[in-house]
Amino acid sequence: MSVTLDLSRVSGAAPAPQTLTGKPLINLSGLTRTQMIAALTESGVAEHGKAKMRATQVFRWIHHRGVTDFAMMTDVAKETRARLAEVFTIARPEIVERQVSKDGTRKWLIRTAPGIEIEAVYIPSVGRAGALCVSSQVGCTLNCSFCHTGTQALVRNLTAAEIVAQVQVAKDDLAEWPSDKDDRLLSNIVFMGMGEPLYNMGAVADAIEIISDNEGIAISRRRITVSTSGVVPQLQALGEKTQAMLAISLHATNDALRDVLVPLNKKYPLDQLIAGIRAYPGISNARRVTFEYVMLKGVNDSPDEARALIKLIKGIPAKINLIPFNPWPGSDYQCSDWAAIEAFAAIVNKAGYSSPIRTPRGRDILAACGQLKSESEKVRASALRQLSMAAMAGVLDDDEDDNAA
Ligand code: SAH
Ligand code: SF4
Repeated sequence: MSVTLDLSRVSGAAPAPQTLTGKPLINLSGLTRTQMIAALTESGVAEHGKAKMRATQVFRWIHHRGVTDFAMMTDVAKETRARLAEVFTIARPEIVERQVSKDGTRKWLIRTAPGIEIEAVYIPSVGRAGALCVSSQVGCTLNCSFCHTGTQALVRNLTAAEIVAQVQVAKDDLAEWPSDKDDRLLSNIVFMGMGEPLYNMGAVADAIEIISDNEGIAISRRRITVSTSGVVPQLQALGEKTQAMLAISLHATNDALRDVLVPLNKKYPLDQLIAGIRAYPGISNARRVTFEYVMLKGVNDSPDEARALIKLIKGIPAKINLIPFNPWPGSDYQCSDWAAIEAFAAIVNKAGYSSPIRTPRGRDILAACGQLKSESEKVRASALRQLSMAAMAGVLDDDEDDNAA
């Protein structure tokens, strides 16, 4: 099989470190093993017959051992290491800010290039051991009316390397190398940070392939959840390419309201969305779809809407994640009263759906976002932090039923 490398995409739009000839260094962390074979061959680092073996060896150093310097690849010949360093990089991006909450929640603000700042949040005790919320874009092109990210223009799609970097930074900080270490703290990945993952399918699929590869970080695909606002034409491809778990940002049970909350609904209305979900590859009782439903006071939180929700998703193996709305400066909505959330959850539970509601974690670090440079960045980062924590709290709650995996 021949693999053509799109090196411009791999290295990103950033002015990356350069080779002696002025070309940007290729970030090896963002290459799947198949892509790495091609890259090592094309660059002349590995001879044709040896590229596969060499790629697995290098891949293991990067994603199993977590090394950030070719010099540490002790079983690779010195000349080969020097040659690797001429063409490629495995350096980590800059960590602009790191915060740890009393409850163990951690967050990192990572700068991969000028203007490209990505936040990743780790929450302990969700999923099997703990989950990392990652971003797929900086900003978002969709304008969900309750979401702060939606008020920002898309800066750009993240590269696979930038998505994988979020996992690497978390693993560095959690001391999770080598990747097969006992009692791992990071067991689940959720694409619930900034951006719409299905508008960046190539990089998201590559990143999932890298993160789930058994020679490396080896997080099972069934512990990787991709959340989408409902890009229906991409659902099939997501399932086929990634075998990831699916989460749908539903938030409303009729088109008139969903058109307002999630404007993408005008393009792909509920009947199309529900049909697309029913056809999602591999869904079953063991691999249920998560429906995210943000609780907005007086907007979508009545008992009638809880009943409409059950009717709408009838027959789909599902869990429902009720997310208390996190207000942000200038937002038009309020979070539902706790009693309304509980009443809603009771109806949903009675119909047989798991619907955990959790208070967001890491509240102490939510308040401490004053170190960022500008006011707009401050608001942006704070909104994302709140968003990801609220959204994640419930989605993985009964992940334990995937123990059979
Ligand atoms: N763009 C994707 C993934 C990122 S958003 C998507 O929309 O699914 C992750 C989740 O957080 C989504 O369900 C989103 O609707 C929700 N969310 C966004 N802003 C929120 C807020 N202010 N309060 C609570 N949940 C929010
Ligand atoms: Fe984008 Fe998701 Fe926010 Fe909607 S909820 S604006 S799709 S990040």
